[in-house]
Amino acid sequence: MSKNFPKIELIDLKKRYLDEKNNLLKCFKKVLKNGTLVLTDEVKNFEENICNYTGSKYCLGLNSGTDGLMMALWSLNIGRGDEVITSPLSFIASVAAIVHVGAKPVLVDVKNDLNIDENLIEKSISSRTKAIMPVHWTGKICNMKKISQIAKKYNLHVIEDAAQGMGSYYNNKHAGTFGTISAFSAHPLKKFKRSWRWWFYYYK
Ligand SMILES: *Cc1c(COP(=O)(O)O)cnc(C)c1O
Repeated sequence: MSKNFPKIELIDLKKRYLDEKNNLLKCFKKVLKNGTLVLTDEVKNFEENICNYTGSKYCLGLNSGTDGLMMALWSLNIGRGDEVITSPLSFIASVAAIVHVGAKPVLVDVKNDLNIDENLIEKSISSRTKAIMPVHWTGKICNMKKISQIAKKYNLHVIEDAAQGMGSYYNNKHAGTFGTISAFSAHPLKKFKRSWRWWFYYYK
């Protein structure tokens, strides 16, 4: 690598803070002044805004996308002895969530677009398969038409790992609205517009 190669920060949180300082501090002050940190109006606003933005009927604000995936699996009663089909090309959280609830991840290879190959899913389905967890890698949505058809045919849940999918659409439908339950992430590296971090909390 050239000595003169510029150092590129993937996330420059200092710069982001300076850019958004006024709005962020306004949020912090408002919340701290109220003296409540759990189940506040801000969380309710956040959830309602995400529902409005994505067109999803329900939204639950959690601490991370990883917990979103784990709670999706738990709430669908997926655990020991069950199998969940997912992509080998993802952040570790997809497979980790499946392993954490006691289930077995079954990896189905990706296509050239780096999303799970929907044509290889069917032959990986067994009598233990409970769900398919497609990962919308870098925000490009998987072939949800085919995946939904397969899920319906075999009576499986679809849990979308939409951690990188905020703002992505497939046939005019927002990521995360195809499956039974889906998880988004607001980690600073994700395709979650930075202004949304405070905007979703603040605005009614
Ligand atoms: C980031 C990411 C997650 C986990 O989200 P966190 O909010 O960081 O817990 C899960 N899956 C994928 C594909 C991700 O990129």
